[in-house]
Amino acid sequence: MKTINIAIDGPAGAGKSSIAKRCAKELGFIYVDTGALYRSVALFAIRNDVLTNDEAAVLALLQNVNVELKFVDNVQKVYLNGEDVSEAIRQNEVSMGASNVSAIPKVREFLFNLQRRIAMTNNVIMDGRDIGTVVLPDADLKIFMTASPEIRAKRRYLELEHKPDCPSFEALLAEIIQRDYNDSHRETAPLKQADDAVLLDTSELDFEQSVQKVIELIKSVEE
Ligand code: C5P
Repeated sequence: MKTINIAIDGPAGAGKSSIAKRCAKELGFIYVDTGALYRSVALFAIRNDVLTNDEAAVLALLQNVNVELKFVDNVQKVYLNGEDVSEAIRQNEVSMGASNVSAIPKVREFLFNLQRRIAMTNNVIMDGRDIGTVVLPDADLKIFMTASPEIRAKRRYLELEHKPDCPSFEALLAEIIQRDYNDSHRETAPLKQADDAVLLDTSELDFEQSVQKVIELIKSVEE
């Protein structure tokens, strides 16, 4: 059976995951958040007191890393060596760690097959940085979702505002700008819009409008 594969790429905080999750639910697709894989590798390094930008040390750890994705009612759970780390990988310090480990080509290679396999056996909306360019170059639809750094930092701030260790808006903005730079300047699989991707800027759209826009795009390729 040919599966339908939708690739959504773009910088942190553009709304990819919440929008993709909701669209997947409406359409009965599986939503695959590939950032969770890089986050799991980063979490493992942090827990083992390894600096996430120390390439040799991170690579030495990889043989002890087993990352799995499981889908319960189409909702993704990520397991690191058998432990459900779906919550633990969301800590703020893991974000920059994920950006660091994701620049290591062997880490990307290590996670590649897992992503491909899921897409070959399920209808997926997969989000990440290199899905349309590297992981699923033949995706049925590619969307490059973006928004201005200020809007993305504001959205992130509103998400974290009520948590005890919420960083300031300025710190979040600086982190977003740094992560954008890292993700788009690394040598392997940098963040960039695929030639055949549709650009969707969500700066001026609210959540519902963004969801409707993506559903329209998906329906147009399903027909
Ligand atoms: O999407 P999320 O912000 O959770 O991803 C965390 C980090 O993982 C990103 O900043 C990026 O460096 C990396 N990543 C990647 N390729 C992907 C998904 C995430 O390099 N497909």
